[in-house]
Amino acid sequence: MSKKLLLKDAHIEGIRYFETYRKQGGYTAAEKALKMTPEEILEEVKVSGLRGRGGAGFPTGMKWSFLAKPEGVPRHLVVNADESEPGTFKDRYLMEFLPHLLIEGMLISSYTLGSNVSYIYIRGEYSWIPDILEEAIEEAKAAGFLGKNILGTGFDCEIYVQRGGGAYICGEETALLESLEGKRGNPRLKPPFPAVKGLWERPTVVNNVESIAAIVPIIDITGAEYAKIGVGRSTGTKLISACGNINKPGVYEIDMTITVEEFIYSEEYCGGIKDGKRLKACIPGGSSVPIVPANLLLKTVNGEPRYMNYESLADGGFATGTMMGSGGFIVLDEDQCIVDHTMTLARFYNHESCGQCTPCREGTGWMYKILKKIEKGEGKMEDIDLLWDIQRKIEGNTICPLGDAAAWPVAAAIRHFRDEFEWHIKNPELSQTQNYGLAHY
Ligand code: SF4
Repeated sequence: MSKKLLLKDAHIEGIRYFETYRKQGGYTAAEKALKMTPEEILEEVKVSGLRGRGGAGFPTGMKWSFLAKPEGVPRHLVVNADESEPGTFKDRYLMEFLPHLLIEGMLISSYTLGSNVSYIYIRGEYSWIPDILEEAIEEAKAAGFLGKNILGTGFDCEIYVQRGGGAYICGEETALLESLEGKRGNPRLKPPFPAVKGLWERPTVVNNVESIAAIVPIIDITGAEYAKIGVGRSTGTKLISACGNINKPGVYEIDMTITVEEFIYSEEYCGGIKDGKRLKACIPGGSSVPIVPANLLLKTVNGEPRYMNYESLADGGFATGTMMGSGGFIVLDEDQCIVDHTMTLARFYNHESCGQCTPCREGTGWMYKILKKIEKGEGKMEDIDLLWDIQRKIEGNTICPLGDAAAWPVAAAIRHFRDEFEWHIKNPELSQTQNYGLAHY
């Protein structure tokens, strides 16, 4: 059984309220942290090996150490709660059931970074959660954990919740900052990076909800103890939101030492594939990471078990990068049609493109149209190569990662399931009435 750090108290009735959270030891990490220097806390975070839980997996301590500190210029912490990646809903769970864990993490992080005014930018569709967060902020303030001169330390901190307007692109940190400033959420060209010029051109750290919540147990048990959990550079615990054709969709906390097979089939987690069907593929880290066929998902190319951690999921057989991503684990059974699935994602990215860069604006729409044609049985064999060519020309040629996120699923689908694309083209009539999955498994 995986060790629980973030969700250990999630089952306790009333844990979302200050009184209950406090009874369970809440805010003791904040009390401990406020007796330390910001440098000591930063060192604990570095030692912990915590990697950003939003998708990129960049070391949090290192990110914090990049924050510029010009004399007399305010600095900000912004929590990225714009959780819009299809298949990802772990931050929603944390905010809904453990809002004080986030607030406590923000207090410690704000103190470390020197942010007297910090923000939570939350996706517009999470319409009921801002009220929960604002209530928790008021409770923390009433108890002296926010506001002026917190616990007599002289440190002031206010937290504000800002609702987004429902654009996926505002999860990209610079688009988020634009939106927070009241402008259209268009990603900025980098450099300068937010650590130097972020919110209102002030040094800013943007971190994911889960990353900031993880600061609480790091201070609680120390960075060194946190680093002992997990394996290699995948330290601590990770929240995974599991969905798709599984028996037990939900949010799970894992310690990154379990295998993918165990995660999918054990009763503690996904409980196996629904209706006893066979596993066809999985997207292990939210829709922006490539789809992985079952044979490569359960075992590495060397035949070793595949583990649920940053290194193992990045190792061989995949299109690119780490596949832990945002922790959105989407499982597809034998009946699912990869062309249909890829088309749905292409439509999503086309719809969410902000339109600033030509490869993304035009390429995502072009890919969607071709995929739609193939899925309807109206495609030609050369369309597959055309698709391949378009995604190659998008990847790496855009201002923000949405372009890559749109290209990778198409690349991976063609790389691993080309026969399925060909089947749709060779069988136009069957293509309209059934899918390759049903016909071939
Ligand atoms: Fe906008 Fe797409 Fe360019 Fe990102 S890659 S800036 S979403 S057009």
